[in-house]
Amino acid sequence: MRKKIVAGNWKMNKTLEEGLTLASEVVNMVKDEVNNQAEVVLCTPAVSLHAVSKLVEGSKVKTGAQNCYDKESGAYTGEISVSMIRSVGASHVILGHSERREYFGESNTMLADKVNLTLKAGLTPIFCCGETLKQREAGIHIAFVNSQLTESLFHLSAEEFQKVVIAYEPIWAIGTGVTASTAQAQEMHAEIRKHIASKYGQAVADTISILYGGSCKPDNAKELFACKDVDGGLIGGASLKSRDFVDIIKSF
Ligand code: PEP
Repeated sequence: MRKKIVAGNWKMNKTLEEGLTLASEVVNMVKDEVNNQAEVVLCTPAVSLHAVSKLVEGSKVKTGAQNCYDKESGAYTGEISVSMIRSVGASHVILGHSERREYFGESNTMLADKVNLTLKAGLTPIFCCGETLKQREAGIHIAFVNSQLTESLFHLSAEEFQKVVIAYEPIWAIGTGVTASTAQAQEMHAEIRKHIASKYGQAVADTISILYGGSCKPDNAKELFACKDVDGGLIGGASLKSRDFVDIIKSF
């Protein structure tokens, strides 16, 4: 059975103190209220990752980074390596978020290197893909998303690929309050799974968790998570409020 996952992407929000408060609220609410088996991951700013990882120790909640550098170590001022992420107790790394692709020029090739390093470090990549509104309107959204997967992931062996989590995030839905309809989300998730099956076979494709991201909130999570090929969510804005985030986790 595929893993159900809800990951919060805090982006550049929350000071250390605010982050610790939010994380401890999430840990307590998950303990008291969540009966399902969903994996919960908090992807915090890098400076808070150690402290939040310590705080969640022994709970059902895991932590992740929002990015890593595409080199193992060295003279790369300001960057953070996969071994550093691992050393502070995190288990996941978001890779290829559309904001990183847009503002920091991350290419599919660079992301392939980051995926390799992440897996080598024993971390789980949450690999983001998704199209612009213009690409969707031009009818090239499926081909575009497939090319993101092909170019950054399809060099992996089947065994490696099964350690990757995919997050489909239509760029036009991120932080805009506009959510993909369940039909749009299901269509793309099924296409992604079909594309994976064309390379690795249906049995492998059926084990891959594909998360939806883009204005997912407590009031739409249930219907999105009910879609056959949607295995959870990557949550931005709504992960900054413990009540909203935990209500989303309870939506399976
Ligand atoms: C995101 O940026 O990963 C995201 C899904 O953001 P939001 O939920 O705010 O649209």
